Amino acid sequence: MAKIAINIATGSLQQAEMIVGIDLGTTNSLVAIIHPETKKPIALKEHNSSSLVPSVIHFDELGNITVGEEAKKFLETDPANTIFSAKRLMGKSYNDIKQNANFFTYKVIDDDTESLVKVQVGSKFYSPIELSSFILKELKARAEHILKTPVTKAVITVPAYFNDAQRQATRDAGKLAGLDVLRIVNEPTAASLAYGLGLAADEEKTIAVYDLGGGTFDISILKITNGIFEVLSTNGDTYLGGDDFDRVIVEHWMTEFGITEDELHLNKELSQGLRLRAEEAKKYLSSNESFSVDFNGDNLSITKEKFESLIQSLIDKTLQCCVNAVKDSKVAISEIETVVMVGGSTRIPAVKKAVSDFFNQPVHDEVNPDEVVALGAAIQADILAGNNKDFLLLDITPLSLGIETMGGLMDVLIPRNSKIPTKVGRQYTTQKDGQGSMRISVFQGERDLVKDNRRLAEFNLTSIPGMPAGFPKVEVSFLINADGILVIKAKELRSGVEQSIEVKPQYGLTDEDVEKMLLESITHAKDDIAIRAIVEAKTEGEQILETTEKFLTKNSHIVSQPEMIATAQAMQNLQLALTMDDKDLIHSKIEELNEITRPFAERAMDAAVSGALKGKTV
Ligand code: ADP
Ligand code: MG
Repeated sequence: MAKIAINIATGSLQQAEMIVGIDLGTTNSLVAIIHPETKKPIALKEHNSSSLVPSVIHFDELGNITVGEEAKKFLETDPANTIFSAKRLMGKSYNDIKQNANFFTYKVIDDDTESLVKVQVGSKFYSPIELSSFILKELKARAEHILKTPVTKAVITVPAYFNDAQRQATRDAGKLAGLDVLRIVNEPTAASLAYGLGLAADEEKTIAVYDLGGGTFDISILKITNGIFEVLSTNGDTYLGGDDFDRVIVEHWMTEFGITEDELHLNKELSQGLRLRAEEAKKYLSSNESFSVDFNGDNLSITKEKFESLIQSLIDKTLQCCVNAVKDSKVAISEIETVVMVGGSTRIPAVKKAVSDFFNQPVHDEVNPDEVVALGAAIQADILAGNNKDFLLLDITPLSLGIETMGGLMDVLIPRNSKIPTKVGRQYTTQKDGQGSMRISVFQGERDLVKDNRRLAEFNLTSIPGMPAGFPKVEVSFLINADGILVIKAKELRSGVEQSIEVKPQYGLTDEDVEKMLLESITHAKDDIAIRAIVEAKTEGEQILETTEKFLTKNSHIVSQPEMIATAQAMQNLQLALTMDDKDLIHSKIEELNEITRPFAERAMDAAVSGALKGKTV
């Protein structure tokens, strides 16, 4: 039975449960809602404090956990027990992050390279999912405190390049925090929504979303058609952001006061003090010409002009990513109609000017850049709550998804760039008589052989009742739901046995990996096609040998002695051809054998044989 909530204080009926929008950021996280009266999105904050919750978690020696501003104070003074940037570890293996292992001042465990990373704090081990769940729990508690009502449903945003593993990890973190994650939305999509883009039914628009946060830079080119968001391309730098701007100011002061790297490294008070003042200076310079502060009797100062000259090369780096993104999107820069600024670091006037010059138009910066993603998530939440029924928001898959078929070939069910949600089904059959199970191995990637792609999952469809080879009809279906999570189902249609799994990929992919995989698929395309042709020919040859042999054992009475000898000879020739990587030779031997056996089949009209000659086997 559904319950109706009544506000005890006022006696009024509480409105339907609120679905919140959450921006789970690398540096800062926050919650937003649609205000029940004004119907406008607002970021939640306690009186007189910021809406931003630093994505930092501190563990004290008693095991107490603090999250946010309080935890941030321990970044330099207790680095081993203070976790920042947990988002960078989501859905990743140690292999994925090992080049950047120095970045983490806490202990990231290097155990089994293919499994998901763990973080060690004292004697305890935490997964990135658990760490993110601590941040989400804090956000949930804050929202409940402010709204004075339980919060159990949320929309959470992720970068557009997040793969299945990372989206699933984010979803799991929500679950662990006690949140039902109704949808995972791409950050640039959310930011666009906050600007009202994509909300008009017949709107068609190409948008660039420039997101410069604390430690990461993302540029996305989106196309909106009838309320559908399509990610045309993404690019960026996962280690470039506001922290680097702070760092150049610290280095400027170090040179000025003759402080060495070693001194800074050994003196945590000093490094913390300088970093905090550098960030303060940077923010101040976004709206003032010069900054100056007393620090232990010394005067730390910097002008806006100096700061801008120090960060110019970093800004140029982001513009190079924009060049690449525009190139990949296949749209001309002049066709980009709107540019949206996201992330705290886009407050810097020099950044705004550079981006505006690059895209040749004024940029959108009216909405608070640290809140814009969360505000968009709240709009999406409101649509899901049914308050705004006209819209359905979609995204696309960055890489192809398929299963392994005979000979290790990749059979693509959902090609890359398919709009999601999407569902595709395809039929397969067995290879051997009485085969009771079928292995379904799921891969992601663009190469023709599965060994060159990424294995996402594997399972056995068991309890297939005994039938001749080629007789069972196994329907394999892939469903990508609106969050980009893949559900694979295999069902034997004659018997009805079925099995399904949700994909929990073994390890994640970065956007560079995606790019690399796409590039490799192009450079290897010719070889891949040739190998595929050979594998297919061999598979066909093997199947024909098997069915012919079976046929002859069963139907020897309708085959004459000379025919039998000719068949055996043709089979031997084919067998020999299969040992060579020559598809044309194999095909010619298949044809020769077929020539001889064709009349037998006509004679016998064996349904099982014709069945076996059709259909693919897994
Ligand atoms: P993320 O999306 O990575 O969690 P945010 O969008 O919250 O990050 O951006 C945080 C960064 O924005 C920090 O480096 C912070 O110093 C920077 N920032 C915030 N306000 C300003 C400002 N007024 N001027 C320059 N940088 C700012
Ligand atoms: Mg962000």
